[in-house]
Amino acid sequence: MQILKTKDEARRWVRHQAAMDRTSGLVPTMGALHEGHYSLVRHSLQRCDSTIATIFVNPTQFAPHEDLSRYPRPLEEDLAGLAECGADAVFVPEEGTMYAPGHSTFIEPPAVARPLEGACREGHFRGVATVVLKLMHILPTTHAFFGQKDFQQAAVISAMVRDLDMDVEVEALPTVREPDGLALSSRNRYLSSEQRSRALGLSRALRDAADAVAAGEIESAAIEQRMHRVLTEAGVDAIEYAVIADRRTLERLPRIDRPAVALIAARVGTTRLIDNQLFDAT
Ligand code: AMP
Repeated sequence: MQILKTKDEARRWVRHQAAMDRTSGLVPTMGALHEGHYSLVRHSLQRCDSTIATIFVNPTQFAPHEDLSRYPRPLEEDLAGLAECGADAVFVPEEGTMYAPGHSTFIEPPAVARPLEGACREGHFRGVATVVLKLMHILPTTHAFFGQKDFQQAAVISAMVRDLDMDVEVEALPTVREPDGLALSSRNRYLSSEQRSRALGLSRALRDAADAVAAGEIESAAIEQRMHRVLTEAGVDAIEYAVIADRRTLERLPRIDRPAVALIAARVGTTRLIDNQLFDAT
Protein backbone atom coordinates (compact mmCIF):
# COMPACT_ATOMS: atom_id res chain seq x y z
CA MET A 1 0.00 0.00 0.00
CA GLN A 2 1.38 3.39 -0.97
CA ILE A 3 1.35 6.02 1.77
CA LEU A 4 1.03 9.47 0.18
CA LYS A 5 1.62 12.62 2.20
CA THR A 6 1.76 15.48 -0.30
CA LYS A 7 -0.83 16.77 -2.77
CA ASP A 8 1.62 16.17 -5.62
CA GLU A 9 2.05 12.51 -4.69
CA ALA A 10 -1.73 12.13 -4.40
CA ARG A 11 -2.37 13.78 -7.78
CA ARG A 12 0.27 11.66 -9.42
CA TRP A 13 -1.37 8.50 -8.06
CA VAL A 14 -4.79 9.40 -9.54
CA ARG A 15 -3.28 10.54 -12.83
CA HIS A 16 -1.54 7.20 -13.10
CA GLN A 17 -4.84 5.32 -12.56
CA ALA A 18 -6.55 7.47 -15.21
CA ALA A 19 -3.65 7.01 -17.66
CA MET A 20 -3.99 3.24 -17.24
CA ASP A 21 -7.73 3.62 -17.87
CA ARG A 22 -8.44 2.26 -14.40
CA THR A 23 -11.48 3.30 -12.33
CA SER A 24 -10.59 4.54 -8.84
CA GLY A 25 -12.50 4.78 -5.57
CA LEU A 26 -12.03 7.38 -2.85
CA VAL A 27 -12.87 6.59 0.79
CA PRO A 28 -12.46 9.71 2.95
CA THR A 29 -12.12 9.12 6.70
CA MET A 30 -10.95 10.82 9.87
CA GLY A 31 -9.08 7.68 10.98
CA ALA A 32 -9.62 5.61 14.14
CA LEU A 33 -10.79 3.06 11.60
CA HIS A 34 -13.28 0.29 12.29
CA GLU A 35 -15.29 -2.26 10.30
CA GLY A 36 -17.61 0.52 9.06
CA HIS A 37 -14.68 2.22 7.31
CA TYR A 38 -13.24 -1.08 6.12
CA SER A 39 -16.61 -2.06 4.61
CA LEU A 40 -16.37 1.07 2.41
CA VAL A 41 -12.82 0.15 1.39
CA ARG A 42 -13.86 -3.42 0.56
CA HIS A 43 -16.83 -2.20 -1.46
CA SER A 44 -14.57 0.18 -3.38
CA LEU A 45 -12.10 -2.64 -4.06
CA GLN A 46 -14.92 -4.66 -5.61
CA ARG A 47 -16.41 -1.76 -7.54
CA CYS A 48 -13.23 -0.06 -8.77
CA ASP A 49 -9.86 -1.07 -10.20
CA SER A 50 -7.99 0.76 -7.44
CA THR A 51 -8.87 2.26 -4.08
CA ILE A 52 -7.45 5.13 -2.07
CA ALA A 53 -8.50 5.97 1.49
CA THR A 54 -7.74 9.29 3.15
CA ILE A 55 -7.11 9.94 6.82
CA PHE A 56 -7.50 13.55 7.92
CA VAL A 57 -9.10 14.87 11.10
CA ASN A 58 -10.60 17.98 9.54
CA PRO A 59 -10.43 20.89 12.00
CA THR A 60 -12.92 23.07 10.09
CA GLN A 61 -15.84 20.72 10.77
CA PHE A 62 -15.41 20.89 14.57
CA ALA A 63 -16.86 23.77 16.61
CA PRO A 64 -14.48 25.22 19.25
CA HIS A 65 -16.19 23.32 22.10
CA GLU A 66 -16.21 19.96 20.25
CA ASP A 67 -13.80 17.02 20.50
CA LEU A 68 -11.11 17.93 17.90
CA SER A 69 -8.18 17.80 20.32
CA ARG A 70 -9.18 14.47 21.88
CA TYR A 71 -10.33 12.83 18.63
CA PRO A 72 -8.51 9.43 18.50
CA ARG A 73 -5.53 9.26 16.11
CA PRO A 74 -4.15 5.67 16.11
CA LEU A 75 -2.31 6.17 12.79
CA GLU A 76 -0.08 3.07 12.81
CA GLU A 77 -3.06 0.82 13.58
CA ASP A 78 -5.09 2.49 10.82
CA LEU A 79 -2.34 2.05 8.22
CA ALA A 80 -1.96 -1.62 9.16
CA GLY A 81 -5.74 -2.12 8.93
CA LEU A 82 -5.97 -0.49 5.51
CA ALA A 83 -3.05 -2.51 4.19
CA GLU A 84 -4.64 -5.71 5.49
CA CYS A 85 -7.91 -4.72 3.86
CA GLY A 86 -6.15 -4.41 0.51
CA ALA A 87 -6.34 -0.64 -0.09
CA ASP A 88 -3.93 0.38 -2.85
CA ALA A 89 -3.03 3.73 -1.33
CA VAL A 90 -3.76 6.10 1.53
CA PHE A 91 -3.47 9.88 1.55
CA VAL A 92 -2.45 11.19 4.98
CA PRO A 93 -1.97 14.94 4.69
CA GLU A 94 -0.72 17.22 7.46
CA GLU A 95 -3.09 19.97 8.57
CA GLY A 96 -0.90 22.58 6.80
CA THR A 97 -1.13 20.60 3.56
CA MET A 98 -4.91 20.84 3.52
CA TYR A 99 -5.16 24.34 5.00
CA ALA A 100 -2.14 26.38 3.99
CA PRO A 101 -1.71 29.71 5.80
CA GLY A 102 -4.18 32.22 4.34
CA HIS A 103 -6.76 29.60 3.34
CA SER A 104 -10.08 31.47 3.33
CA THR A 105 -12.40 29.84 0.78
CA PHE A 106 -15.29 27.73 2.01
CA ILE A 107 -18.24 25.96 0.43
CA GLU A 108 -21.76 27.19 1.19
CA PRO A 109 -23.46 23.83 1.84
CA PRO A 110 -26.68 22.80 0.06
CA ALA A 111 -30.17 23.14 1.56
CA VAL A 112 -30.17 19.56 2.85
CA ALA A 113 -27.41 20.61 5.28
CA ARG A 114 -29.71 23.02 7.17
CA PRO A 115 -31.86 20.86 9.49
CA LEU A 116 -30.73 18.28 12.11
CA GLU A 117 -26.91 18.20 12.29
CA GLY A 118 -26.77 21.55 10.52
CA ALA A 119 -28.98 23.11 13.19
CA CYS A 120 -27.17 21.42 16.12
CA ARG A 121 -23.59 21.85 14.87
CA GLU A 122 -23.15 25.29 13.38
CA GLY A 123 -20.60 25.39 10.58
CA HIS A 124 -20.16 21.61 10.61
CA PHE A 125 -21.27 20.94 7.03
CA ARG A 126 -19.44 24.03 5.76
CA GLY A 127 -16.27 22.32 6.98
CA VAL A 128 -17.29 18.86 5.73
CA ALA A 129 -18.28 20.09 2.25
CA THR A 130 -15.10 22.14 1.96
CA VAL A 131 -12.74 19.33 2.93
CA VAL A 132 -14.52 16.73 0.78
CA LEU A 133 -14.45 19.09 -2.22
CA LYS A 134 -10.74 19.68 -1.62
CA LEU A 135 -10.08 15.94 -1.33
CA MET A 136 -12.04 15.34 -4.54
CA HIS A 137 -9.97 18.00 -6.31
CA ILE A 138 -6.69 16.59 -5.06
CA LEU A 139 -7.90 13.05 -5.81
CA PRO A 140 -10.27 13.24 -8.80
CA THR A 141 -11.26 9.57 -8.63
CA THR A 142 -14.09 8.10 -10.70
CA HIS A 143 -16.01 6.99 -7.56
CA ALA A 144 -16.33 8.07 -3.93
CA PHE A 145 -17.84 6.06 -1.08
CA PHE A 146 -19.55 7.26 2.09
CA GLY A 147 -21.48 5.61 4.93
CA GLN A 148 -25.22 5.91 5.53
CA LYS A 149 -24.29 6.06 9.22
CA ASP A 150 -23.79 9.78 8.49
CA PHE A 151 -26.94 9.93 6.39
CA GLN A 152 -27.15 13.72 6.19
CA GLN A 153 -23.45 14.02 5.36
CA ALA A 154 -23.86 11.62 2.41
CA ALA A 155 -26.88 13.67 1.26
CA VAL A 156 -24.89 16.91 1.54
CA ILE A 157 -22.03 15.48 -0.52
CA SER A 158 -24.34 14.03 -3.17
CA ALA A 159 -26.10 17.40 -3.52
CA MET A 160 -22.78 19.25 -3.71
CA VAL A 161 -21.45 16.88 -6.39
CA ARG A 162 -24.65 17.31 -8.39
CA ASP A 163 -24.90 21.10 -7.96
CA LEU A 164 -21.24 21.74 -8.76
CA ASP A 165 -21.19 19.39 -11.77
CA MET A 166 -18.44 17.22 -10.36
CA ASP A 167 -17.55 14.15 -12.39
CA VAL A 168 -17.54 11.54 -9.65
CA GLU A 169 -20.01 8.79 -8.82
CA VAL A 170 -21.01 8.99 -5.16
CA GLU A 171 -22.38 5.96 -3.37
CA ALA A 172 -23.68 5.71 0.22
CA LEU A 173 -23.35 2.29 1.84
CA PRO A 174 -25.23 0.62 4.72
CA THR A 175 -24.27 1.15 8.36
CA VAL A 176 -22.14 -1.56 9.94
CA ARG A 177 -23.27 -2.47 13.47
CA GLU A 178 -22.06 -4.49 16.43
CA PRO A 179 -24.04 -7.73 16.92
CA ASP A 180 -26.13 -5.98 19.60
CA GLY A 181 -27.09 -3.15 17.21
CA LEU A 182 -24.68 -0.38 18.21
CA ALA A 183 -23.58 1.46 15.07
CA LEU A 184 -19.80 1.39 14.77
CA SER A 185 -18.29 4.83 15.33
CA SER A 186 -14.82 6.14 16.12
CA ARG A 187 -16.49 7.96 19.03
CA ASN A 188 -17.56 4.64 20.63
CA ARG A 189 -13.97 4.53 21.97
CA TYR A 190 -14.95 7.30 24.38
CA LEU A 191 -17.67 5.16 26.02
CA SER A 192 -17.20 3.26 29.27
CA SER A 193 -18.94 -0.14 29.32
CA GLU A 194 -21.76 1.34 31.39
CA GLN A 195 -22.15 4.19 28.88
CA ARG A 196 -21.98 1.74 25.99
CA SER A 197 -25.02 -0.13 27.28
CA ARG A 198 -26.93 3.16 27.55
CA ALA A 199 -25.78 4.05 23.99
CA LEU A 200 -27.67 0.96 22.78
CA GLY A 201 -30.78 3.10 23.27
CA LEU A 202 -30.20 4.71 19.86
CA SER A 203 -30.32 1.51 17.79
CA ARG A 204 -33.07 0.13 20.02
CA ALA A 205 -35.23 3.24 19.46
CA LEU A 206 -34.66 3.02 15.70
CA ARG A 207 -35.57 -0.66 15.65
CA ASP A 208 -38.70 0.10 17.65
CA ALA A 209 -39.59 2.81 15.11
CA ALA A 210 -39.03 0.39 12.21
CA ASP A 211 -41.23 -2.21 13.93
CA ALA A 212 -43.98 0.38 14.42
CA VAL A 213 -43.82 1.38 10.74
CA ALA A 214 -43.82 -2.26 9.66
CA ALA A 215 -46.96 -2.73 11.81
CA GLY A 216 -48.69 0.09 9.91
CA GLU A 217 -48.03 3.22 12.00
CA ILE A 218 -47.63 6.26 9.73
CA GLU A 219 -48.01 9.19 12.14
CA SER A 220 -44.55 10.64 12.77
CA ALA A 221 -45.55 12.15 16.14
CA ALA A 222 -46.47 8.70 17.49
CA ILE A 223 -43.21 7.17 16.27
CA GLU A 224 -41.12 10.07 17.56
CA GLN A 225 -42.79 9.71 20.98
CA ARG A 226 -41.88 6.03 21.03
CA MET A 227 -38.26 6.80 20.11
CA HIS A 228 -38.05 9.36 22.91
CA ARG A 229 -39.48 6.84 25.36
CA VAL A 230 -36.98 4.12 24.39
CA LEU A 231 -34.06 6.58 24.56
CA THR A 232 -35.14 7.84 27.98
CA GLU A 233 -35.61 4.31 29.31
CA ALA A 234 -32.13 3.38 28.05
CA GLY A 235 -30.76 6.28 30.07
CA VAL A 236 -29.15 8.51 27.43
CA ASP A 237 -28.16 11.85 28.98
CA ALA A 238 -29.67 14.16 26.35
CA ILE A 239 -31.71 13.77 23.19
CA GLU A 240 -30.82 16.39 20.60
CA TYR A 241 -33.29 15.06 18.08
CA ALA A 242 -35.22 11.87 17.41
CA VAL A 243 -37.31 12.58 14.34
CA ILE A 244 -38.87 11.28 11.16
CA ALA A 245 -37.74 13.15 8.05
CA ASP A 246 -38.24 13.12 4.32
CA ARG A 247 -35.46 10.91 2.99
CA ARG A 248 -34.70 13.34 0.16
CA THR A 249 -34.87 16.78 1.82
CA LEU A 250 -34.41 15.75 5.48
CA GLU A 251 -37.21 18.14 6.43
CA ARG A 252 -39.59 16.88 9.16
CA LEU A 253 -42.35 14.69 7.82
CA PRO A 254 -45.72 14.70 9.63
CA ARG A 255 -46.81 11.41 8.10
CA ILE A 256 -44.85 8.60 6.47
CA ASP A 257 -46.42 8.90 3.04
CA ARG A 258 -43.15 8.98 1.07
CA PRO A 259 -39.61 7.65 1.47
CA ALA A 260 -38.63 8.47 5.04
CA VAL A 261 -35.80 8.07 7.50
CA ALA A 262 -35.66 8.17 11.30
CA LEU A 263 -32.66 10.06 12.68
CA ILE A 264 -31.35 10.37 16.22
CA ALA A 265 -28.64 12.46 17.85
CA ALA A 266 -28.12 11.89 21.57
CA ARG A 267 -25.48 12.33 24.21
CA VAL A 268 -24.17 9.65 26.54
CA GLY A 269 -21.89 11.31 29.06
CA THR A 270 -19.99 13.85 26.98
CA THR A 271 -20.09 11.68 23.85
CA ARG A 272 -22.41 12.74 21.06
CA LEU A 273 -23.76 9.84 19.01
CA ILE A 274 -25.84 9.74 15.83
CA ASP A 275 -27.69 6.93 14.09
CA ASN A 276 -30.50 6.51 11.61
CA GLN A 277 -32.82 3.98 10.04
CA LEU A 278 -34.43 3.88 6.61
CA PHE A 279 -37.94 2.45 6.55
CA ASP A 280 -38.40 -0.56 4.28
CA ALA A 281 -42.09 0.14 3.97
CA THR A 282 -41.51 3.46 2.16
P1 AMP B 1 -15.47 9.31 9.75
O1 AMP B 1 -14.10 8.75 9.89
O2 AMP B 1 -16.31 9.18 10.98
O3 AMP B 1 -15.49 10.69 9.15
O4 AMP B 1 -16.19 8.37 8.69
C1 AMP B 1 -15.65 8.14 7.41
C2 AMP B 1 -16.67 7.45 6.54
O5 AMP B 1 -17.01 6.20 7.13
C3 AMP B 1 -17.96 8.25 6.41
O6 AMP B 1 -18.44 8.14 5.07
C4 AMP B 1 -18.87 7.56 7.39
O7 AMP B 1 -20.23 7.70 7.06
C5 AMP B 1 -18.42 6.13 7.24
N1 AMP B 1 -18.80 5.35 8.43
C6 AMP B 1 -18.61 5.69 9.74
N2 AMP B 1 -19.16 4.76 10.55
C7 AMP B 1 -19.73 3.82 9.75
C8 AMP B 1 -20.46 2.61 9.98
N3 AMP B 1 -20.72 2.17 11.20
N4 AMP B 1 -20.89 1.91 8.90
C9 AMP B 1 -20.63 2.34 7.64
N5 AMP B 1 -19.94 3.47 7.35
C10 AMP B 1 -19.50 4.20 8.39
